Amino acid sequence: MTRAVLSIGSNIGDSRAHLASVLTGLAPHVVAVSSAYRTAPWGGVDQQDFLNAIVVVDDPATDCRGWLGRAQQLERDAERVRDVRWGPRTLDVDIVVCRDADGVDVRSDDPELTLPHPRAHERAFVLVPWLEVEPDAELVVDGRAVRVDAALALLDADERDGVRADGPVGT
Ligand code: ATP
Ligand code: CA
Ligand code: CA
Repeated sequence: MTRAVLSIGSNIGDSRAHLASVLTGLAPHVVAVSSAYRTAPWGGVDQQDFLNAIVVVDDPATDCRGWLGRAQQLERDAERVRDVRWGPRTLDVDIVVCRDADGVDVRSDDPELTLPHPRAHERAFVLVPWLEVEPDAELVVDGRAVRVDAALALLDADERDGVRADGPVGT
């Protein structure tokens, strides 16, 4: 089996519908979904707030590269245009962590698929919804296993407080 934690986000168009399209697209494999969270944009580009969520998926037939392929297909289906780095988008689907058939979290420095996602531990909009569905989650940062709640506690209070639950992902 491979199990992946996906961070999904949108700030163009009907963002809740774009997030819900991930649940529909991966339906039989979805094992947990956080609430939707309204969050300030990350990365310095002036743009609308995002709606973000975490989706946990599990499928014996999909490896970590397979999850990336599925994520990118969902982004194409949402007609995502790659323009400004960290800029506005209809749908972004990132693989935060992915566990392979041995039950071990995959670690990779490949720029095409870096695991764990190299910036996840710095982002309250990833960590807050992740803790909602997996309160004991851990990820590897700089080669060391770190609890997600501990990583969140290291972030600025402003960043944590800027992530506000806003109803379910699905309508
Ligand atoms: P960030 O990765 O900082 O969240 P972004 O999501 O805006 O930024 P994208 O333009 O969506 O970046 O993706 C750029 C590339 O990142 C993709 O082509 C993809 O191959 C690569 N990538 C590397 N690791 C991952 C990962 N863990 N999840 C998703 N994409 C990844
Ligand atoms: Ca991203
Ligand atoms: Ca991405």
